[in-house]
Amino acid sequence: MAELRLAGLAKRFPDGTEALAPLDLEVPDGAFYVLLGPSGCGKTTLLRLIAGLETPTAGEIRIGGRRVDGLPPQARDVAMVFQDYALYPHLSVRDNIAFPLRMRRVPRAERERRVREVARLLGIEALLGRRPRELSGGQRQRVAMGRALVRAPAVFLMDEPLSNLDARLRIGMRAEIAALHRRTGGTFLYVTHDQAEAMTLGERIAVLDRGRLRQLADPDTLYARPADVFVAGFVGSPGMNLVPARVRAGPAGPEAEAAGAPVAVPAEQAGALAPYAGATLTLGVRPEALRVGPAGEGAAWRVAGRCEALERLGHEQVAWVRTGAGERLAARLPARPRPAPGETLPLWAPPGALYWFGPDGRLLAAPAAADAARAGR
Ligand code: ATP
Repeated sequence: MAELRLAGLAKRFPDGTEALAPLDLEVPDGAFYVLLGPSGCGKTTLLRLIAGLETPTAGEIRIGGRRVDGLPPQARDVAMVFQDYALYPHLSVRDNIAFPLRMRRVPRAERERRVREVARLLGIEALLGRRPRELSGGQRQRVAMGRALVRAPAVFLMDEPLSNLDARLRIGMRAEIAALHRRTGGTFLYVTHDQAEAMTLGERIAVLDRGRLRQLADPDTLYARPADVFVAGFVGSPGMNLVPARVRAGPAGPEAEAAGAPVAVPAEQAGALAPYAGATLTLGVRPEALRVGPAGEGAAWRVAGRCEALERLGHEQVAWVRTGAGERLAARLPARPRPAPGETLPLWAPPGALYWFGPDGRLLAAPAAADAARAGR
């Protein structure tokens, strides 16, 4: 096993598409890192560059200190698990798993021993004689993992390996992948557009947007202190509510207005906002931080809106609300009471729920509690 280090790694395709802007990333030996981003942000391209299936336009790739970007894929000591598994349909499970060893001319007895070991690890010993078409999606996924594991490579690359599985199986396999990582102690780089998968698996998560690294952080920090509006809106279910907010200088410090309602700027955030008097910032409030009902003394922002849609999730509900100013907000609420469609909901946010992002979209101020949580890490 080894660390993976990317320096200034970039990819522009011949048609001019900049799939990856120069990117620096270090994955320590034995770590589990996740690349998270929406479709088309460059995740697969990045894995393919590391695997040697694509040539970078610029930059370096090092594995265990050795520069590998000029080497052919088989000389890089990485194994990749693809989204569609890419199993050989005419080969048995045994031969699919053994394939990378055959390519490396590993003697038959050693091959058989390693295939058995990996099959035991993945719980697919009974399937070794079957062909891929005789397997369920989850079993195929295990075989694809087995083929990657059997070589004990320095680095594992996984490209949305669970996206073809149904929701229940996905959660089960997620736990298995985490256990596999613990057992093998391998260096894992895992690609997904599913933030729940990213948050549960990743020690650290690299958020990509249009080929650019927006933030690299552990799951708690990503949630509590998103670096910019993109990360704030992408992480969370639903993502953070983001509303334009006009800021002006008041007699006792900066004052703000968002969705037609005044926002009481908490004292500890005033300093960060003061330089932006006259500017439009972005106010962020997580859906789970919005409350419904008459606001108590402690409300920092009160805004009413019409309930346009309701997502019932059993133990809770998400109300999609349109304010009088036209802003759409999501509020995560207890399952009861259930608002009627079209009903006007009085929403409010406590001061400890307010985030502020600058005109460039970068985080200016997070709730004090988010800072405290981070300082305590
Ligand atoms: P998804 O989650 O949908 O798989 P992704 O984040 O993995 O998306 P990539 O497949 O890495 O995204 O693609 C990144 C960008 O590069 C996209 O805009 C894509 O259209 C473009 N791209 C990928 N391959 C090529 C190619 N061979 N030629 C030109 N553009 C390409």
